[in-house]
Amino acid sequence: SLLINQIAAGEVVERPASVLKELLENSLDAGATRLWVDIDQGGLQRIRVRDNGSGIPREQLPLALARHATSKITSLEDLQRVTSLGFRGEALPSIASVSRLSLTSAVADAQSAWRVQVEGSADPSAAEPAAHPIGTTVDVAQLFFNVPARRKFLRTEKTEFSHLEEVARRIALSRFDVGMQLTHNGREVLKLAQGDTAAARDQRVGSVFGQGFLEQSLHMQQEHSGLRLSGWLSLPGFARSQADLQYFYVNGRMVKDRLITHAVRQAYADVLYHGRHPAFLLFLEIDPELVDVNAHPAKHEVRFREARLVHDFLFRSLHRVVAQTRA
Ligand code: ADP
Ligand code: MG
Repeated sequence: SLLINQIAAGEVVERPASVLKELLENSLDAGATRLWVDIDQGGLQRIRVRDNGSGIPREQLPLALARHATSKITSLEDLQRVTSLGFRGEALPSIASVSRLSLTSAVADAQSAWRVQVEGSADPSAAEPAAHPIGTTVDVAQLFFNVPARRKFLRTEKTEFSHLEEVARRIALSRFDVGMQLTHNGREVLKLAQGDTAAARDQRVGSVFGQGFLEQSLHMQQEHSGLRLSGWLSLPGFARSQADLQYFYVNGRMVKDRLITHAVRQAYADVLYHGRHPAFLLFLEIDPELVDVNAHPAKHEVRFREARLVHDFLFRSLHRVVAQTRA
């Protein structure tokens, strides 16, 4: 089972950023409206997420660290099948198997908070009382301490932190209603108040994409045949040499997809020099029946049932806005 844990960990825990993504998604699943993220040394020393979600009752703490599917896996084929399902119920055990993890949580009406700890392949400790407000803290220390081969694949602290920050930004822009704080080596990197008003949204976009983007972009909203596109689109003058500030969400899920990239490039074709990239933060709402956002979760690909319709809607909506910017 240690082998299975570590094979699985290799799939689900590629680098510190993949740990952060799993922890933040768990916090959101638990209904958190505030997230505190503290990173030390590019996540290699520590990745800690605290939330104000519903918490985990004492008796369920060990279960959260136990691999649900282990007993079902009897062959390598099975393992591959489980892998392709995306490790449902597997993230925390996988992360724990390659780190020193502590899980502290408090639920409403409980006498106390409780903590369990696990180091790599060891069994989790018995739950001990702890001090913690309602919600959960997952503290992942010394990632890959027991897998030196994995550590070798990691980049510099700075590069790993930039991946961590990217994960935080993506999630921050998918949930304006959730507050987020991010520190690196004790220094504040992001502080985003929760708020779903237009002003609060602008403020968050400015904090994450930069004030320059906010000042040199247009807010747009278009709707047609059940498709709704809204968000911010940079003016041609804000063009960048890198395609870095290009965030696109489908029904709240961040995606990167050829069809989308193509439609945007077409919309800007008349106004952008070759090799320059627009910046955008766009949200597409579409009938969930018409899209598969799980086509390839790790690669953020989507599959639209009516690809032509979606492409043309995106192109037309964006082109209309881009054309205005020339007037
Ligand atoms: P999954 O999210 O696929 O269920 P995980 O391994 O990521 O599997 O988490 C295991 C379980 O631990 C979750 O199903 C949830 O019950 C619990 N859990 C993990 N993180 C949190 C959290 N921040 N708040 C509340 N419960 C959590
Ligand atoms: Mg999870």
